[in-house]
Amino acid sequence: MNIAHFMPTRILGGEDCVRQNASEFAALGKRCLIVTGRSSALKSGALQDVMDALIGQGIEYEIFDRVEPNPLLSTCYEAGRLAAELGAEFVIGIGGGSPLDAAKAIAAFATNEMEPMELFSPPFKKVPLPVAAVGTTAGTGSEVTPYSVLTVPELESKRSFTTPHGFPKVAFADVRYTLSMNRVQTVSTGLDAVCHAVESALSAKATVVSLAMAKEALGLLFPVLSRLTGGGAPTLEERSSLLYGSILAGMAISDTGTCFPHAFGYQATFFDDVPHGSATAFFLGEFLRWHVGHADERIGELVRAAGAADMEGLIGVVDSLNPPPKELTREQAAHFSRNTAQSRNFLNSIRPLDPALTEEIYLRVLGK
Ligand code: NAP
Ligand code: ZN
Repeated sequence: MNIAHFMPTRILGGEDCVRQNASEFAALGKRCLIVTGRSSALKSGALQDVMDALIGQGIEYEIFDRVEPNPLLSTCYEAGRLAAELGAEFVIGIGGGSPLDAAKAIAAFATNEMEPMELFSPPFKKVPLPVAAVGTTAGTGSEVTPYSVLTVPELESKRSFTTPHGFPKVAFADVRYTLSMNRVQTVSTGLDAVCHAVESALSAKATVVSLAMAKEALGLLFPVLSRLTGGGAPTLEERSSLLYGSILAGMAISDTGTCFPHAFGYQATFFDDVPHGSATAFFLGEFLRWHVGHADERIGELVRAAGAADMEGLIGVVDSLNPPPKELTREQAAHFSRNTAQSRNFLNSIRPLDPALTEEIYLRVLGK
């Protein structure tokens, strides 16, 4: 295992960190496009804080508030052209992974007049606009990753692009913005972060740094999720653990990428509209069990870091928070399988998956 690590994002955390660090925006330019989903930026209070900060710094802004969950490539293309027309010098993403990933794509389209699908073949001719990320969920870690995951209906799938410019220049982590998430959103995004930590730790590309972050993340995330199996809502302190755990897990996948649970989950999200974190977590048990006998020491480290009784105990907590949705037919499983194997993260693990098993796994997990 090596020590390679790259993470150029400045992370600013704590209550009121956006307004207290307003000069960070001024360092990025004088005019920007704010990119949000339909309502969470407003509901969480993050949009108001960003607007206050920009006004205080004399920065002009326009708001694009039409990013859908699991953002469409076409939406990002449209907003990218808008950013170019406005002469935006930087982009601020406010929201969960969807607006943050969209902001990265919009930043690339703003400086590059290219066909939408060219987004997936970086490097780009021109450097994308700088991005500032204001997270409102505690899951994807997109604030600190170089990845952007978009939905391409023509491919019947999600597709990602990665470039060093995908790392936001600055990320703000204020736990107050996550308070407006309901239980389903809190659990789903928390499970996404757990998947990031576990998948990163069992990735073929794990390093001593990524592993340390993945284990630390699990230690923050798992006890809170475990407590939530008894019902109720997280306390503010527990929400902070989820937020910081999700950021550490995001930093871990920045080094390693994700593994097959994400490849499977993309399909479940695309076809059944299951939230990303839940869709991915359905497959975490299969992923851990697939590594038994091949990475036992690493699994043991993860179990201890999480404070779980054993591997099955860890899987049990994830599964009890995340009951699978409607039943999958054999035809759907076959269809999903074809797209899953094309995903970049499909074979990225200490024990690469046998593609012949894909359909069987879909049926075992979702076909009951
Ligand atoms: P999301 O898709 O950004 O948001 C899901 C829902 O939660 C939306 O309806 C959103 O509302 C709402 N929401 C967000 N924050 C809220 C808040 N504070 N209060 C109330 N509602 C809130 O969810 P996500 O799980 O964070 O992101 C998932 C996306 O990230 C997927 O497309 C996934 O593929 C991607 N992802 C990216 C990375 C990466 O490294 N870049 C890693 C993993 C996953 P609005 O629509 O109004 O915003
Ligand atoms: Zn994820």
